Amino acid sequence: MTRFDDLADAVLAGRVAGADDALDVLRATDDELLPLVAAAARLRRKHFGNTVKVNYLVNLKSGLCPEDCHYCSQRLGSQADILKYTWLKADEAVEQATAGLRGGASRICMVSSGRGPTDRDVERVAGMVGALKAEHPDVEVCACLGLLKDGQAERLRAAGVDAYNHNINTAESHHDDIVSSHTYADRVDTVNRAKEAGLSPCSGLIAGLGESDEQLVEALVALRDLGSDSIPVNFLMPFDGTPLEGTWELTPGRCLRILAAARFVCPDKEIRIAGGREMHLRSLQGLALHVANSIFLGDYLTSEGQAAEADLELIRDNGFVVLGAESVAASVEGADSHDPSKRRRGAGTDLPANA
Ligand code: SF4
Repeated sequence: MTRFDDLADAVLAGRVAGADDALDVLRATDDELLPLVAAAARLRRKHFGNTVKVNYLVNLKSGLCPEDCHYCSQRLGSQADILKYTWLKADEAVEQATAGLRGGASRICMVSSGRGPTDRDVERVAGMVGALKAEHPDVEVCACLGLLKDGQAERLRAAGVDAYNHNINTAESHHDDIVSSHTYADRVDTVNRAKEAGLSPCSGLIAGLGESDEQLVEALVALRDLGSDSIPVNFLMPFDGTPLEGTWELTPGRCLRILAAARFVCPDKEIRIAGGREMHLRSLQGLALHVANSIFLGDYLTSEGQAAEADLELIRDNGFVVLGAESVAASVEGADSHDPSKRRRGAGTDLPANA
């Protein structure tokens, strides 16, 4: 038994993990990493079994945002070479969402850049949601449109939106170092508006923004206190052309520890490995699924993820099933199409070795 097993026992028995516990998790040594994952996995299994919730992002409106979030490729003045376009039409949004549903997603996240929607924008999204739900009545829809004003959360709820995402992104004590065009309180206000309107609150963070361990824990505890039902954990993708260009603070092991800390602090909440999964977890993505219980399928808002099929393979290979498709048993799918590719380089050839 390690101290992380003791902590898992205590949390399973109903104790709330404190900031000190979370700090201890973040500071686990490399030798302790596997026992830590195993302990966090007990909480994950207790609340989510062997399922992975698969989400799919549709970027309804990309780039050209007037806000100045330092981490964001869509921010004011961003020189990142990303796609920029204004609102998708309803049929385009439905087409994109349908591709994600076909790929195995059960939740569609409809996202737009910007400080927050106008009432007209809200009506536009309400129309999209209506059209999507008419074709796919079981789909869960999460909207992510920025800061909400009076009545907007209620309108989205009435239109059939199930959840609203608005990340706090970082600790209150670090917020003003990463954005100046709105406040931490603005962000919390929108999460509360969503909650009060009956939308499931989705709020998470971005790790690797220069925050301290204490600030990471501060953010996790804040998310628990905020009552966030699902917690996307993003790992900073430092786009060239943004203020955080070249910021590279994360290792795969650090990312695992962050996910484990999130699991201990919020044991029964949906912990989603979000942006930066492939870039930062790299070969530890599989281990991370034993701690988190949700991922995005395919691409992110302005960057490409790994192939969607590789995401599904990751789930199957680690013994999990896609939530909503539990009847599809783990299989040796793909085995029939994997004739090994023959070596044509290195010894016996004139070509350089693969080394
Ligand atoms: S408000 Fe949203 S889209 Fe705009 S810069 Fe901030 S994170 Fe990016």
